[in-house]
Amino acid sequence: MPDKMIFFDHTSTTPLDPRVLEVMLPYFKENFGNPSSHVHSLGQIALKAVDKAREQVAALISAKPSEIIFTSGATEANNLAVKGIANANKTKGRHILISQIEHYSVMNTAMFLNSQGFETEQVPVGEDGFVKLDELEKMIREDTILISIMLSNTEIGVIEPVKQAVEIAKRKNPAVIFHTDAASSAGIIPVDVNDLGVDALTLSAHNFYGPKGAAALYLREGTKLFSLFEGGFQESGYRSGTENVPAIVGMGEAARLAKEEMPERNRKIEALGKKLWNGLAEKIEYLHFTGSSENRLPGHVSFWVEFAEGESILLFLAVKGIAAASGSACSSNLRARDEDELVGSHVLAAVGVPTDICSGSITFMLGKDSTEEEVDYVLETLPPIIQRLWSMSPSYEDMLKNKK
Ligand code: PMP
Repeated sequence: MPDKMIFFDHTSTTPLDPRVLEVMLPYFKENFGNPSSHVHSLGQIALKAVDKAREQVAALISAKPSEIIFTSGATEANNLAVKGIANANKTKGRHILISQIEHYSVMNTAMFLNSQGFETEQVPVGEDGFVKLDELEKMIREDTILISIMLSNTEIGVIEPVKQAVEIAKRKNPAVIFHTDAASSAGIIPVDVNDLGVDALTLSAHNFYGPKGAAALYLREGTKLFSLFEGGFQESGYRSGTENVPAIVGMGEAARLAKEEMPERNRKIEALGKKLWNGLAEKIEYLHFTGSSENRLPGHVSFWVEFAEGESILLFLAVKGIAAASGSACSSNLRARDEDELVGSHVLAAVGVPTDICSGSITFMLGKDSTEEEVDYVLETLPPIIQRLWSMSPSYEDMLKNKK
């Protein structure tokens, strides 16, 4: 048993980088001013710090600082993007397209808009997890105002062809506004808003070793957006409310470090991820990886195992000191609102994983501080767990009998 938990759950969150914490600390203590109250020096210090963070976050995605709107989290940024863009453009049309595998903060927000007179449709994905671009093209209409397709999927690790999707969308209907949820991409893989051609993009600090409580919506200059809240004029009026200065400062520093260290981080993570992937393929029979093996997030390994419940694997791993995710970390504890039952993952269902095991595949996501020893330990520990679960599974026994 390792001394400390092996954290292979970097899709749910990442640990705060101690260097980021150092930069944040003064803003919890002596630099407690409010950026909106900048007639005095304390307010000016806070305002300068937020402006610096805005520049650092903008630089991470090749945006202009004036195009960054700080929010409390990716959920808020996605709500702001989807509701704010839809409402600001509803005189032009009411048709919205999202992919079938969006995070709930995009999916449920877009579906909610149907109750407000919008019409949301879901673009299908193939078994490899990539959005079907030919279907997308067919589904774009004259009254389509918004398309939201995520840049990478947390649960199955695939990096979506957003650049090509934007090209198709703008060719078919130049008025379409394109948003991408890059909460699990920005700060992890290179993201350039100009290369992608998107109009809006969500990014989240706690996914790249920054603090929780800070995220941002990139909004291309000239794009119309309604705010979610009525209030003061912070964030150019798009997001009223006193800024979470320490968290925003932390997001800026985490963005700076991510930009600087990304190639080195990913070289290491990629190699460890490959070792884990190949080791699992070799050691565990009846294991099926989810999502394409190409164009994946570095260090993201997701799979399901026949005759072994994902939630049970997760529990046994936790007992052995290994933290992973089952399906989407955001939904592994999710229960249907009105029923006491687990809700299967819509992402796994969309890529054709049989629905009876949809309540749990396993997602390992390595991070910048993951080590080869940790990968070795996981590769040693998981096969006996699977064997044990199989030994308790009547359907595994049946399968063996039928094979004879
Ligand atoms: N988008 C994606 C792709 C996510 O994976 C998540 C959850 N990690 C969110 C949005 C929501 O993030 P948060 O819960 O931090 O608001």
